[in-house]
Amino acid sequence: MLVFFGFVLGAVIGSFLNVVIYRLPKGESVVHPPSRCPVCGHRLGALDMVPILSWLVFRGRCRYCGAPVSARYPLVEGLTGGLFALAAWLHPAPDAGLALVWAFTALLIALSFIDIDHYILPDGLTYGGLALGLVGAAVWGFPVGWGAAWSGALAAAGLLALIGGYANLVLRRGASGRPGFPVGLEHVYLAAAVGAWAGWGWGVAAAAAVVALNLALRRPLPLHDALTLTAALLGAVVASYGALPLSVLESVWNLLLAAGVVALAGGLYWALVPEEEEDEEDEEPVAMGFGDVKLAGMLGAWLGFGPFLVALGAAVFAGAVLGLLFRRRKLPFGPYLALGGWIALWWGAGWVRAYLAYLGLS
Ligand SMILES: [Zn+2]
Repeated sequence: MLVFFGFVLGAVIGSFLNVVIYRLPKGESVVHPPSRCPVCGHRLGALDMVPILSWLVFRGRCRYCGAPVSARYPLVEGLTGGLFALAAWLHPAPDAGLALVWAFTALLIALSFIDIDHYILPDGLTYGGLALGLVGAAVWGFPVGWGAAWSGALAAAGLLALIGGYANLVLRRGASGRPGFPVGLEHVYLAAAVGAWAGWGWGVAAAAAVVALNLALRRPLPLHDALTLTAALLGAVVASYGALPLSVLESVWNLLLAAGVVALAGGLYWALVPEEEEDEEDEEPVAMGFGDVKLAGMLGAWLGFGPFLVALGAAVFAGAVLGLLFRRRKLPFGPYLALGGWIALWWGAGWVRAYLAYLGLS
């Protein structure tokens, strides 16, 4: 019963997600005005909006003008219904946990298709999802506890920001990225560098101090990415020789947390204070978009850091496999990360435990 209800609810939610996917990136309201046929403008009635069935009954055409309706609509409805049903089957209890899992699923589907269409991951969905993950952890301790949700969000965002940083360093042969004012990626890397040597609190304090100086001087202080990123690595290496009060794992953990605090706080700043319209033509090579960093933060809040690594591994694996299958079109990384996150929600913790047991660590 619950599985069937999950499918029906998912199909209806999927119908709403189609509206979100279509309208949210354009900055339009997702509740108003009511849906219309984009070709003839005829307002759609209840009969036109029965999930999946309308599309099948009217054979993928508008009932009023005959214009073809994309198969994407029933696909999203079917996918949402299928995943809601699967979630109800894997979590067979009609409780708050299932509602949270359904919300997580809906967010990931909306994010994936918007990323496929526009190469963006809207802040409202990533930060909204992160906040919902923290609420779930605080109120129900589900899917993970409060501490695991926070550290997961920060370390996951920090990890992705740093992967992007090191990849950019290689792509740009050591050149620094354009400085951000008042806060940019260079402050994320600075936080990582100081965090690796002295602990995450000092890393965050160092980044905050430079941001405050930027504001006081009204210009960005130069910070060389190659120096900060090398210093971060060096901190972990020195820690591995026992020369720091931190062990190597503590050093890496503090580096990730410090980077994550600055990445998510800086991202939130830019989400709330939109960047001035820039008419600079040449895009810098960015190995990983900053939207992926925020999505990683959201996934970390839902999964905890260990299972997030499972999600990241699954995403890289799926990206490699599907990338080979669909060579023609460059797909963004967000949908892979979302897929990995959904898989890791169910099996991530188990896989982490099995791996730690294999290493003899638990
Ligand atoms: Zn029409």
